[in-house]
Amino acid sequence: MLGRLQLDGYQLVDDPQGTDFVIVNTCGFIEQARHESFSAIDEMLELKRRGETGGVIVAGCLAERQKEQLLESRPQIDSLVGVFARDEVARVADRLMGNLREQRTVFSPAPVQALSDRQRFRITPRHFAYLKISEGCDRLCTFCAIPRMRGKHVSKPIEEIGREAAELAADGVRELLIVAQDTTYYGLDLYGRPRLADLLEVLEAVDGIDWIRLMYFYPMYIDDALIRRIASSRKVLPYLDMPLQHASDSMLKRMARRVRRDETESLLDRLRAGIPDLVLRTTFITGFPGETQDDFERLREFIQKQRFQRVGVFTYSREPETPADRLPDHLPEEVKQQRRDELMALQQAISMEYNEAQVGKRMPVIIDQQVEHEDNVWIARSRADAPDIDGVVYLSGLEQPLATGQIVTAEIVAAQQYDLVGAAVSSN
Ligand code: SF4
Repeated sequence: MLGRLQLDGYQLVDDPQGTDFVIVNTCGFIEQARHESFSAIDEMLELKRRGETGGVIVAGCLAERQKEQLLESRPQIDSLVGVFARDEVARVADRLMGNLREQRTVFSPAPVQALSDRQRFRITPRHFAYLKISEGCDRLCTFCAIPRMRGKHVSKPIEEIGREAAELAADGVRELLIVAQDTTYYGLDLYGRPRLADLLEVLEAVDGIDWIRLMYFYPMYIDDALIRRIASSRKVLPYLDMPLQHASDSMLKRMARRVRRDETESLLDRLRAGIPDLVLRTTFITGFPGETQDDFERLREFIQKQRFQRVGVFTYSREPETPADRLPDHLPEEVKQQRRDELMALQQAISMEYNEAQVGKRMPVIIDQQVEHEDNVWIARSRADAPDIDGVVYLSGLEQPLATGQIVTAEIVAAQQYDLVGAAVSSN
């Protein structure tokens, strides 16, 4: 949306006060996210009421999911822009600026071809970027509202993704984070078979890109060719984010994950055997409807046994219009939270052990930013750390000043609960 607005001559500013209009780009995934989105919308509507901004446009998943409710409950919203109408955003802005108020909503059906994300205007740091390889999802996990909001899976053509990656590299990106709702499904809709391994070969050839990080793997369609591609790559990091959601077969069945625990275990064995020094991130849900103490014990024992380096645990969020919402045996919020806390405490000890094992090692790190008011002290990330969700490496510099986006070798000198402390020993 920012790219489209910039092409149309709009200028982005930091402060909503004094603007011609604001756009609130919303998330509608789970209740907490919707709550945050509603708060942001209300804050902007209050600015509009005080005459401090000229209009409020609401875009994104919440607009897609709850358009009637938004229009009725907040008549001061000037326009709603649906997920698949995002390329219309500049036209919506033009109409608002021209005071043409007759059309308040712009929605499009889910496209059969993926929308292009070229000519982006990025507000994230220059040196890393999210690269979306497909949109939508063909899975039917019973707790998840995403397929309703984002439609069926549509992959971008390999060549198009290659061009987008080259454009990002020319714009200063060194680390690509490969995202989609389901990255291992990539290509099946377009080419009749999953083609993530082929896509990685194309991305590997893009000059300027040094790190490729794979997010949102589904534990299916991960064949030996893909494992070999990751293992043999100079750029694809030995890091996988693969949400598993649960480890009790009865829960996995109720969630309609279509993967049993023993299948996941053998996949984890294959991944670890095939990819040296693999770091695994995963996420689980506690308190899914019908989760018994026995189901929970199975999950806890699985986490204890598997010793993932990174784990996120979320309490089940009851989502209207999802199959899980209609299941019997919903659990009280306290039970969901108590089970989440128990798993997080277990994982803290495992993470600490992993971090302590890094002390004394030398490893490449990418520099994200300088620590304010410090001379030559930096915040960096190792190959085991995705931005925003994993830890960081606090880095003291070499004699010469370092720079954001630079990849240097660090020697790890201390471990904290989630972060590491290191000293740069050479610039790569
Ligand atoms: S694979 Fe992910 S996005 Fe797709 S339905 Fe399941 S949880 Fe939702």
